[in-house]
Amino acid sequence: MELACLDLEGVLIPEIWIAFAEKTGIEELKATTRDIPDYDVLMTQRLRLLREHNYGFNEIREVIGELDPLPGALDFLNWLRRHFQVVILSDTFYEFAMPLMEKLGHPTLLCHRLEVAEDGTITNYCLRQPDPKRQAVRAFQLLNYRCIATGDSYNDTTMLQQADAGILIHAPRNVIEEFPQFPAVHDYDSLRQEFLKASTVHGA
Ligand SMILES: [Mg+2]
Repeated sequence: MELACLDLEGVLIPEIWIAFAEKTGIEELKATTRDIPDYDVLMTQRLRLLREHNYGFNEIREVIGELDPLPGALDFLNWLRRHFQVVILSDTFYEFAMPLMEKLGHPTLLCHRLEVAEDGTITNYCLRQPDPKRQAVRAFQLLNYRCIATGDSYNDTTMLQQADAGILIHAPRNVIEEFPQFPAVHDYDSLRQEFLKASTVHGA
């Protein structure tokens, strides 16, 4: 049995924090796991910036409500779901992701949780477990699923390494150069081809 494991932001939807940074003009909020590989360091910085600028959950949710999946993402996902069981492994939070998951037809999503106070202040975040994407792939492999994984950034690379096959999509040059073992594509047609190539069931 084969399982497709997908990162969410940068693969199927825009980067939520970058969208919010553009809306508010807070340049430092544009940092992502591409810039700061340690997710805890990155999230601590984001929450500090939100506090400093007096923004909370409601303002972020408003921006997320205006976002759409990347062009072609829904077609790609629908194609993928016809050929593979699909799980999305993300470092986002359920509280942020749900409006966008609706636009993607509610695929299975494993991610983190936020703690939000009644006044909308984001007080904390709860990571599901350390190295969550890789641990998920490991667990699926113990269930005898062969995993093909795709992502765009540093926080995907341990998942890609753990998977039976890993593919980079929309990755920046530094990630592609640091991880030359993974095929790197920049559009969904090429990603379809890489999934077929990596598959032992549908092998091209
Ligand atoms: Mg990503």
